[in-house]
Amino acid sequence: MILKILKYPEPVLSQPGEPVTEFDAELRKLVADMFETTYASQGIGLAAPQVGVSKRVAVIDLSMGKEPKDKLVLVNPEIIYSADKQYEEEGCLSFPDIREKVARHAKVRVRAQDEHGKWFEMDGEELLSRCLQHEIDHVDGILFLFRMSALKRNLNLRKIRKMQSEDKW
Ligand SMILES: [Zn+2]
Repeated sequence: MILKILKYPEPVLSQPGEPVTEFDAELRKLVADMFETTYASQGIGLAAPQVGVSKRVAVIDLSMGKEPKDKLVLVNPEIIYSADKQYEEEGCLSFPDIREKVARHAKVRVRAQDEHGKWFEMDGEELLSRCLQHEIDHVDGILFLFRMSALKRNLNLRKIRKMQSEDKW
């Protein structure tokens, strides 16, 4: 099922998600629907708050559905190590038409559970590292707008307000 993606400034986007404690059919349905929604939106990642579910769940697939082994489910994820810097352009499905350079770590190690509750650790570099940080920010209620410089943030806020006033947001 394709879910509706909420746009900034929906309040749920800025709230930290609740930790997941039940690894049941409902969670697995949410994960499946989140992948379907990500692919339908031509995205590479999505977090549960973006579909109005305030839980610590995110999905990532850099292959956009082409490589089953690239499907990544992150439940209760946290970054346990980070190193180096990168400064590359990012977008977000909750900010259509906004792309901006954001400072991130070049490398991260993440600890998370899968949809069955099994803990694992993984490393990400470059794009995967950026995507992991972006999605884990979402489950913490942090939006990429607030990772931009104040100048860029204000420019983009103006752009959003203009689109809102023209009913294009
Ligand atoms: Zn996002």
